[in-house]
Amino acid sequence: MSIKEKLPKCLFCENTSYKKTAYEDTLFNHKVFEYIQCSNCKLVYVSPLPNYDDLDKMYPVNYQGELVKKTTGCYDKLFTLINQHGNYTTILDYGCGGGKFIIEALSNQFEITGVEFNPQLVGNLKKHLPQATFYTTEEFFKTESQYDVIFLSNVLEHLTSPLETMLFLKGKIKENGIFVIEGPIENNFNLTKIFRKTIFCIRKSILNSKASHVPTHVLYANRENQEMFFRKIGISTLYYKVDEINWPFPMTYKECDTLKKKFLYFIASISVKFGKIVPNWGNVFLFIGKVHNSSN
Ligand SMILES: [Zn+2]
Repeated sequence: MSIKEKLPKCLFCENTSYKKTAYEDTLFNHKVFEYIQCSNCKLVYVSPLPNYDDLDKMYPVNYQGELVKKTTGCYDKLFTLINQHGNYTTILDYGCGGGKFIIEALSNQFEITGVEFNPQLVGNLKKHLPQATFYTTEEFFKTESQYDVIFLSNVLEHLTSPLETMLFLKGKIKENGIFVIEGPIENNFNLTKIFRKTIFCIRKSILNSKASHVPTHVLYANRENQEMFFRKIGISTLYYKVDEINWPFPMTYKECDTLKKKFLYFIASISVKFGKIVPNWGNVFLFIGKVHNSSN
């Protein structure tokens, strides 16, 4: 099957021309998924896009790990930032996982609603945190509620139709409400990315190897194409911060039990240090945006 037959439009700018990338093809659910790059906005995205059957296998109930039982204060700085933008009471956590953000929002006195893909996980969350409201993605699309804040953490890179999903979510924001979005920007500039791409390029072009990871991240963005995408759907930037973490390399030296891991940890640590001084250098982002009155 040729790539052209299955080629989806660019998930951000809807352009249809593309080029191949250094990212290895991956085999999942008896299919080969390729990572291609939009010739216009440089977004890297997977082709073909995962269908319902692929998604069902990608996100089993244990995908999100254990339900979160205790608050840690890990979002305290974020709540301070949110409160600086307005007097908000209701938050939607779209893609709430095991409830990490939900439990923190509850302890900060917010009215919180969580949405998840897997119905069994949603059932478990309802029992675990009865003070919050939960919906499956399917149920949520039929609701009419609106929220002051819509929060997406590590979600955007999983969306197979980010344009439709974000436009729908835009309609769920109350007047003067905000989007708070965080996650990876895997194709943004940093040393780790250059190192990984070089290795991928060698493996793909010389060794002709294939990867076998689950293509849960359907898109690899950078700051530029991501902000273009937000503007295109009518969300303007109030705050944007790029940061860098060791991921996908080892996060701590303790977990480096092989020489290879120690080397990767070393590369990531140098990259993180550069990230502290070079603007827009990094692999994760935090965005706060508000809805435009008109859509351009
Ligand atoms: Zn594009």
